[in-house]
Amino acid sequence: MKGGLFADTTTTTATDNFELPPITPIASGTSIPKLLRAHAADSEDHEPFYIIDVGQVARKYDQWVAALPRVDPFYAVKCNGDKTILKLLAKLGTGFDCASKAEMDTVLKMGVPADRIIYAHPCKMASHVKFASQNNVRMMTFDNEHELHKMKELYPNARLVLRVLTDNSRSICNLGLKFGAALARVPHMLQLAKDLELDVVGVSYHVGSGCFDAQAFADAVAVAKTVFNIGAELGFKFNLLDLGGGFPGSDNVNVKFDDIASVLRVALDKHFPAAENKDLHIIAEPGRYFVSASHTLAVSVVAKRTIVLPTTNGETNDANSAANQAAMASASACPAAAAAAAMAAAQGRAADGAPTFMYYVNDGVYGSFNCILFDHAVVAPRVLVSGNLGVVAMDSDSESDSEERAESGFACSIWGPTCDSMDCITKTGRLPELAIGDWLYFEDMGAYTVAASSTFNGFPKPKLMYVNSESHRNLL
Ligand code: PLP
Repeated sequence: MKGGLFADTTTTTATDNFELPPITPIASGTSIPKLLRAHAADSEDHEPFYIIDVGQVARKYDQWVAALPRVDPFYAVKCNGDKTILKLLAKLGTGFDCASKAEMDTVLKMGVPADRIIYAHPCKMASHVKFASQNNVRMMTFDNEHELHKMKELYPNARLVLRVLTDNSRSICNLGLKFGAALARVPHMLQLAKDLELDVVGVSYHVGSGCFDAQAFADAVAVAKTVFNIGAELGFKFNLLDLGGGFPGSDNVNVKFDDIASVLRVALDKHFPAAENKDLHIIAEPGRYFVSASHTLAVSVVAKRTIVLPTTNGETNDANSAANQAAMASASACPAAAAAAAMAAAQGRAADGAPTFMYYVNDGVYGSFNCILFDHAVVAPRVLVSGNLGVVAMDSDSESDSEERAESGFACSIWGPTCDSMDCITKTGRLPELAIGDWLYFEDMGAYTVAASSTFNGFPKPKLMYVNSESHRNLL
């Protein structure tokens, strides 16, 4: 204790006492919806739950190594700090991008060597820098002059990586709004680093999270090359190129990982040919790429509201008619409720008085679906178990059937469990009519979901159940 009210928590504790959870082996190709349905059928409390397939993460690693053999992935822990997944990635051999002391501590305690960690936060807290220094995590990013002075004072031996601004306009999450040195500032910043006798070892960037244009990755490599040249003119010998994150985690996107990888291979060979760059270490900081598809979430319908639309002669027998809903919602300036009611008014079959529905499920935007607010995610509900339909899980082998059912269903909106009307998962959509106790599931829920979820209003986080679809491999 250094004095004062607070204990000095800078140093790390030695090892991790984390015990692996049970991981059920499953055959490759096993239908995850079938597993979800079996668990939902057993569930007495109807609490939400995830099935997490560690085999899926391992396959992503294999795909990366095959597609980008020159690039070592440093998994971005912020995306999903699930310890089982971190252990797996550590065992497979990835490095880690950590943004805080806690993230570094977690990874170090798993036995990951300090040189397999990059402290990739350009604006660091002093206590976190001290922690990095005490634990020999030397590689870290910066993007401004103030940070250089901070590093001079707190960690003069750090191996600094200059994060430059690249075009983020082709990504859903524009990280360039907050971080990255403009190219015009680079000469001055590197000169200052030189004057301060700091060790700048390379360049990093981030094209933005959820990047939808493969060419953005190639353009960023060209920017990095320019910075390498500026560094060389000032006498620096850079040996690290960090391609950042932004790689998609599922194939349900416009630009697939393999498209990006082929563009990147060409750009790397053009600007950093292997033969002339034998000492160059190329890394990247993929987050969602590794974990997005590994998580499937099941939630149950805990409540339901039926909105009966006015019939053609304008009559309605429901106090919660769409018109009332819309009027009340706009009066209360609640955009989500207004949108849902507007949707009901617009999409319901007013001519025959068909109802629309509002379903309330037991996870929402304060929980896993925070990805809707923070990650601009658009999620797709699928019916897992429905009493009305005689228990139909929409497996991949009955996909077209499920689409037909959805088409022929009713307009509906889906809401989280809290008392906040912002807590809306989907404002519009069509599903077969669901009953209280029915289940929905959502695929590709591993990235920026669990990581930032809360128990606001006292609603618990979903349970986690692990399976391994690569059961023939000794993954963990
Ligand atoms: N690296 C840094 C510095 C980031 O800020 C992020 C995400 O915010 C990532 C990597 C991971 O990005 P993604 O999940 O899009 O790969």
